[in-house]
Amino acid sequence: MDNFIFSNPTKLLFGKGQIDLLPKEVSRYGKKILLVYGGGSIKRNGIYDQVMEKLAEIDADVFELPGVEPNPRLSTVQKGIEICKREGIDFLLAVGGGSTIDCTKAIAIGAKTDIDVWDIIMKKESASDALPLGTILTLAATGSEMNAGSVITNWEIKEKHGWGSPLVYPKFSILDPTYTFSVPKDQTIYGIVDIMSHVFEHYFHLTSNTPMQDRFCESILQTVIETAPKLLEEPENYEYREVMMLSGTYALNGMVSVGLRGDWATHNLEHAVSAVHDIPHGGGLAILFPNWMKHVLDEENVDRFKQLAIRVFNVDPTGKADKEVALAGIEELRAFWNRIGAPSRLSDYDIGEDSLELMADKAVAVREQYGVFKKLDREDSLAILQASL
Ligand code: NAP
Ligand code: FE
Repeated sequence: MDNFIFSNPTKLLFGKGQIDLLPKEVSRYGKKILLVYGGGSIKRNGIYDQVMEKLAEIDADVFELPGVEPNPRLSTVQKGIEICKREGIDFLLAVGGGSTIDCTKAIAIGAKTDIDVWDIIMKKESASDALPLGTILTLAATGSEMNAGSVITNWEIKEKHGWGSPLVYPKFSILDPTYTFSVPKDQTIYGIVDIMSHVFEHYFHLTSNTPMQDRFCESILQTVIETAPKLLEEPENYEYREVMMLSGTYALNGMVSVGLRGDWATHNLEHAVSAVHDIPHGGGLAILFPNWMKHVLDEENVDRFKQLAIRVFNVDPTGKADKEVALAGIEELRAFWNRIGAPSRLSDYDIGEDSLELMADKAVAVREQYGVFKKLDREDSLAILQASL
């Protein structure tokens, strides 16, 4: 393992009815609240009314930023920053999925500086302060409710980038599985794929001696694989939603990846696809991940793929060469995602050959090479995209 320091300060309030604790949590930070949310799902499922009722208990002065897009845009971040500065906001409350939370994190940083927030996202400048934020999660997927990361799209120049700062760990996150009952089937599937993909990004690394991290990862994958089909059959089953919600948080709260450097190449490539075509993140990952696996698999790294195939996808290695076992595992992953209804080709989103070069350019826009398990360049990006058509 590499040396590491692990600290995750986000307080989780998990379970049915935990919204009751909202007034107490928020009142630690002040009265002027900016409520950030998406395109209206929280108004349709009643979460908005519950939140407003709870905030009224502490006489909070509530301002609102609705309309955060899936793949949240810089322009919306800027709107939020303007409200914070104009109104002297004390606390940001994100109610929604990863997009709403990520947008809120960028607002938190931008509200406390005159530096252009895009320069911070692009790591040209660094942040030194942030407004405090809390989250009420409505979709199990990104883990953003308990991490310091955020992904923002600058739609004008078609760039989508991840950034992070310890300053934007949520102070608290309320995770009530009943809030995810109304997530539509397609978004539930994208969430499942994103959760599994976060685990894969940790699992494929070059650090030695990580048996505990490996088994943590494998247990999340096994749990998700076991639960996903049942959840899709019964979207309002509390126990299945509960398991998926916890899986999403654990997959990317830093705990299972201590002491190692994960790969993250497939996320980088997916951001390039979403930046150009604005497709759902989980959909893009479902298309790309098995093709990334096939592209990077070689004699030197076959053991890790073999371990995944045997331990998670129950591939029987008897009488098979290592590479055969590894490939069988990748095929099992594809078959599982197909079974639950995830997309498998770029053409599922009407993406054809004509934008491959542009997406490959975007993948290497910041760094000529990316990925840890295997370094990828523009040519590799193009090959994986081509295989994904
Ligand atoms: P999302 O983009 O936040 O939400 C997707 C859709 O689901 C929206 O249309 C939203 O509707 C709807 N929705 C959410 N909760 C709902 C509910 N309870 N009932 C009905 N509809 C609901 O999805 P996400 O997958 O959580 O976030 C994706 C973004 O996160 C991408 O930009 C991705 O790149 C990023 N990401 C971030 C991290 C990280 O660590 N920060 C990691 C991976 C990915 P409304 O808008 O109407 O609410
Ligand atoms: Fe992700």
